[in-house]
Amino acid sequence: MPATLLDGKKLAEDVRSGLGPRIAVLAARGIVPGLAVLLVGENPASVSYVTAKEKACAELGMRSFERRLPADAVEADIIEAVREFNADPAVHGILVQLPLPKGVSESRVIEAISPAKDVDGFTPVNIGRMVIGDPCFLPCTPHGIIKLIEVAGVATAGAHAVIVGRSNIVGKPLANLLTRKSINATVTVCHTGTRDLAEHTRRADILVACAGVPELIKAGMVKPGACVIDVGVNRVDDPSKAKGWRLVGDVDFAAVSEVAGSITPVPGGVGPMTITMLLYNTVESAERPA
Ligand code: NAP
Repeated sequence: MPATLLDGKKLAEDVRSGLGPRIAVLAARGIVPGLAVLLVGENPASVSYVTAKEKACAELGMRSFERRLPADAVEADIIEAVREFNADPAVHGILVQLPLPKGVSESRVIEAISPAKDVDGFTPVNIGRMVIGDPCFLPCTPHGIIKLIEVAGVATAGAHAVIVGRSNIVGKPLANLLTRKSINATVTVCHTGTRDLAEHTRRADILVACAGVPELIKAGMVKPGACVIDVGVNRVDDPSKAKGWRLVGDVDFAAVSEVAGSITPVPGGVGPMTITMLLYNTVESAERPA
């Protein structure tokens, strides 16, 4: 039986609908949640991500502030732009679109973001708070994945979750969230040093693919009935398309759908949830006492 499709677009709409009344309450207090976006250079994927985030803000009646710097901007100028956003009371959340140009330290730029406005949840302060379970902004992609797993109806307590990828923005924070007592999964994290990847993935009740490798996960690597979350966004050549390419995830969707119990599509799975959790964190930031 084909897997149940985990519709990230629909879930994102539901979460955004829940934000509407909270934004109205803030408006009555004269507060409009504001997201500041800093974009360095003209990377087409980054430009389209930023445009999508600004559009999503506008649709919810939130404000967005955009600052663009040229690709040859020096680190000091980027950090200065971050500090200006830190000081602006109309800004409740700051997003620095990654990647930054070569030669610029992403760590130093991220560390310049005020933790109180770090709605991406990337600063060391927020990550530290997340790890010890203190109130913090949860990183958007892992937070969105947790919500998708929840709606899949998967019993997480005691489940074996296997994450393929250990980046700071997806794999590592997700491993931490899945081992929280409230979720109680047992987690295996795989990476390029993992021996026999399939041996691990086949034991997963929850399999999260976040490697950035097109269709890495084949049907034979998936336990029947597993919940499969595909984080990957990869462009592959496709001469049949007018633009010459199409997007695929890290999972061989057609084949794995025949084995998994539930699965996210690409596009329309994790991506819409990532943007939505960014808006969620920005509203939460605006609600905090000044
Ligand atoms: P990343 O920083 O490149 O990390 C990739 C991770 O996967 C690394 O830990 C790497 O291992 C591991 N890996 C790579 N190839 C592997 C293989 N063959 N077997 C096992 N592990 C392997 O990537 P990222 O930023 O986490 O992003 C991952 C993917 O998710 C990308 O396609 C990205 O576009 C997508 N993404 C989507 C969203 C969304 O909202 N939909 C958000 C973020 C990212 P090593 O550590 O050993 O190198």
